[in-house]
Amino acid sequence: MTNTAKVVLRGTGVKKYFPVRSSVLNRVKRNVKAVDGIDISLYEGEIYGLVGETGCGKSTLGRTLAYLTEPTGGSIEVLDQDMTAMKRHQLIEMRRKIQMVFQDPYTSLDPKQRVGDILTEALKIHNIGTRESRMDTAVEIMEKVGLRLEHFYRYPHEFSGGQRQRVGLARALILNPKIIICDEPVSALDVSIQAQIINLLQDLREKEQISFLFIAHDMSVVKYVSDRVGVMYLGHMMEEAETEELFRNTLHPYAKALLSAVPNPSPHTKKERIVLQGDLPSPINLPSGCVFHTRCPYAAEQCSVRTPHLKEAAPGHRVACLMYEEGWSARA
Ligand code: SF4
Repeated sequence: MTNTAKVVLRGTGVKKYFPVRSSVLNRVKRNVKAVDGIDISLYEGEIYGLVGETGCGKSTLGRTLAYLTEPTGGSIEVLDQDMTAMKRHQLIEMRRKIQMVFQDPYTSLDPKQRVGDILTEALKIHNIGTRESRMDTAVEIMEKVGLRLEHFYRYPHEFSGGQRQRVGLARALILNPKIIICDEPVSALDVSIQAQIINLLQDLREKEQISFLFIAHDMSVVKYVSDRVGVMYLGHMMEEAETEELFRNTLHPYAKALLSAVPNPSPHTKKERIVLQGDLPSPINLPSGCVFHTRCPYAAEQCSVRTPHLKEAAPGHRVACLMYEEGWSARA
């Protein structure tokens, strides 16, 4: 993305903690630190891929940025307006601009409602249009996502997985958002259907200038669809760069391990798979210093006491690792 592109979503120091209470006095004993101080920006018309292992906090970050759950700390700006400082009615209005699409739309679609009613309901809640104009808008959006008029009167169970994801997208689009956060939108679909949904997202980005935060664990899909990629580990951003740069010049030891698992399309070049030792530590008890030090093959003594910060290592390429900071010594 160029430096002149407009930022439509900006999270600064975003935190989301879930309290763990004692069973006796219901006091907060500790916190599950699902997201622990993330800085992230999304540009107009951009697809930003957010990756990391299961449990790294990427879905929680997506839900927090969409304000489906209130952040514990930090600020979230949508179209230059600070969501964290808004009153309830302002938040409801602003939520129209930022919508979510989930992995399995079936569980988020009311099985007793026809698709037409599901789509027009959002407009009704926001008091937009008349009954007739709402139906017209719904039909228009259905066409945009590749659904036909006859689908208007069908129930969610009458659709295939790919069609249901199109309904999920139509429901997100009907409020005319500027940003859509897609949480594993293609993970549950067959490969051929995945390609159709991804092409549809790219089409929407080009025609409508919608920005997407694309949360996924499949690195091949992320590489194909994203303009920039962010790699998360234990609630922290480890590395962020334009997609080509990140895959060509991976810097962070965790990102290197994650990317080493991506199948190599060329049979002539051999790629070594980096297998991380140990389990993902508990987010209730985060490791001190660098949160990755308990599994990092390059960890030095200082890694357990010094916290690395996300810093620019090359233009537009940021990494949080002490190896790229001043004063690094493999023996210290
Ligand atoms: Fe590894 Fe240390 Fe870098 Fe963390 S700061 S990724 S432990 S080398």
